Amino acid sequence: AKRNVLITGCSSGIGLALAVKMARDEQKRFKVYATMRNLAKKAALEEAVGGRLGKTLEIKQLDVCDEQSIKTCVNSIPDRRIDVLVSNAGMGLIGPIECQTIDEMKTVMDTNFFGLVRLLKEILPDMKKRKSGHIVIISSVMGIQGILFNDVYAASKFAVEGFCESLAIQALKFKLQLSLIEPGPVVTEFERKVFDDGMKMDLSAADKETAEMFTNIYLKNYKQIFQSLGQSAEDVAEHTVKIILAENPPFRHQTNTLYTPMTTLKYADPNGDLPIDIFYKMVFHHDKVFSASLNFIKLLRWRSRKSFDLGKSSQ
Ligand code: NAD
Repeated sequence: AKRNVLITGCSSGIGLALAVKMARDEQKRFKVYATMRNLAKKAALEEAVGGRLGKTLEIKQLDVCDEQSIKTCVNSIPDRRIDVLVSNAGMGLIGPIECQTIDEMKTVMDTNFFGLVRLLKEILPDMKKRKSGHIVIISSVMGIQGILFNDVYAASKFAVEGFCESLAIQALKFKLQLSLIEPGPVVTEFERKVFDDGMKMDLSAADKETAEMFTNIYLKNYKQIFQSLGQSAEDVAEHTVKIILAENPPFRHQTNTLYTPMTTLKYADPNGDLPIDIFYKMVFHHDKVFSASLNFIKLLRWRSRKSFDLGKSSQ
């Protein structure tokens, strides 16, 4: 039987790429409910999915910030049966906190964190009853490690990770699976929107040093980081499908091996100083990056021995 897959945020980026990839599965293993907040933006998905529309994929409205829209969407699915939930909808926010309003910050938390909570309040009880289901969350490497000028975004993804770590223990009792997908930089609308908003930001509330740090260091390097380390949405979608098809899906999966040396620093020093020190040197003392890079490589070797083997999926 086909597995019903509900994905949020499918009008662009990772959600769109994943919906298309699953709808086009040669073995036709999935029925995809590709959801989006605004159906006026469905053209790109419709075009990408082509002849599979109405067969292996249906488009539905769902706003993760609106409980009623989630309920209406889930009720419209036969027997409300969702075998795989992919919580993907999300938004970014960069800049000095002095220049962001609490309302802007709340919108990020409401979308990235409470969006997931709302979905689960509606879908988890059915999964528990059936004692089957896989909850897949598009988190981020920023769910385990903060980055300069991403304070609130990182906090929203940390919230997601803490929530899931707690829930995973209960999920195990009900034979449910939970997987956090942690991409590094991905070249999508997200990256463009966040950058444009950063460029337009009113920095008058920040002191000169902070404002310059944001403009002359952070924004200046932003595009380059995405160019050198960035993955495509299709690449992240491919990783996600493998995790969905895995016999024993891992709780955490990082999609970008170029980025793993950074996240490894977190686990390499229980005091937590190492990643902060390295990020500081990378940002403010480029000359020291070389010796730091050598340490990364050593850690990468250590990390790669422990990482999940993607080859073992049941695909
Ligand atoms: P994107 O902007 O292309 O996609 C995000 C989607 O979420 C958009 O289609 C947007 O309309 C939708 N969305 C926003 N608010 C919503 C709401 N209230 N209800 C329903 N949908 C809503 O960017 P993306 O990179 O594909 O982002 C997808 C996920 O990947 C996000 O959770 C993001 O945090 C995560 N992520 C992105 C990157 C990156 O660098 N792009 C890195 C790591 C993790």
